[in-house]
Amino acid sequence: MNSVRAIVILALFCMQLAGVMNAHAQGRKMEGDIESVQVRDNIYMFVMEPAGNVAVSVGEDGVALVDDQFAPMTERIKTAVAELTDKPIRYVFNTHWHGDHTGSNQNFGKQGLVIVAHDNVRQRMSAEQFHLFFKARSPASPPEALPVITFSDTMTFYFNGDVIDVVHMPNAHTDGDSVLHFRNADVIHTGDVFINRGYPLIDIASDGSIQGQITATNRLLDMMGPDTIVIPGHGPLADKARVLAIRDMLVTARMSVAELISQGKTLDEIIAAKPLAELDPEWGQGFVRAKYFVQIIYQSETGDWEKPEGMPLVP
Ligand SMILES: [Zn+2]
Repeated sequence: MNSVRAIVILALFCMQLAGVMNAHAQGRKMEGDIESVQVRDNIYMFVMEPAGNVAVSVGEDGVALVDDQFAPMTERIKTAVAELTDKPIRYVFNTHWHGDHTGSNQNFGKQGLVIVAHDNVRQRMSAEQFHLFFKARSPASPPEALPVITFSDTMTFYFNGDVIDVVHMPNAHTDGDSVLHFRNADVIHTGDVFINRGYPLIDIASDGSIQGQITATNRLLDMMGPDTIVIPGHGPLADKARVLAIRDMLVTARMSVAELISQGKTLDEIIAAKPLAELDPEWGQGFVRAKYFVQIIYQSETGDWEKPEGMPLVP
């Protein structure tokens, strides 16, 4: 059932992305292997777009995963882990509730792994949710997929010789985002409060906001040293210069749209005015196009959006 759900969500992704990305290429990529990248020391990154980047801590204590992609990828994640170590996977941390970051939870939960996330991740997964971008509803997750340890503000793992600070970033991509800082390895997994592939998809219906996304990016910069490596929720590894560039893009985009809102313009008028025209060549060619990012900023700033009628429930 879970794999059917993930495939339907993936199909939905592809349908929505028609004309934006090549749906066939997406489908083919799902067939392939996970790309395993050593980030630094005992920290690895598993990549398989369109699902999120998985961080993997490997060592004497076993394995901890940050995010776990879609359900059909569970076995491939386990295979990729087995190529690094004989030790068992003990923890899965979810950076937020979205299916491309929690999709293997049910499989891992059934096997007795400990799933950890922010309070709001468990809350949202416990009830039906909906996506403004995909215009679809998600059902509540089965009990075994839910995080069994949750936290409200910060928490710390002592694992594989590292100290891992977990920090909640309020109302950024959603209302339940965490970033994880592996202090000794000097690596941060950001979840989707930081994505490295153009304009971000901010989930307004899950109480995300452009303001929170900017605040989270600034807090990320405060947490970073000169050599910190960032594993984004999606896209390639990033350094401090790249995080700064994305912060500046977010601030410029927000100001450009906010100025037109303050002039009393409607959303349609603001979209027609193309306020992101100068940013588009560099940032507007990916998953989220300028028109939709303008809408996200408008909805963030004004709180003016409605739950669409008749959204399909994606099984
Ligand atoms: Zn997400």
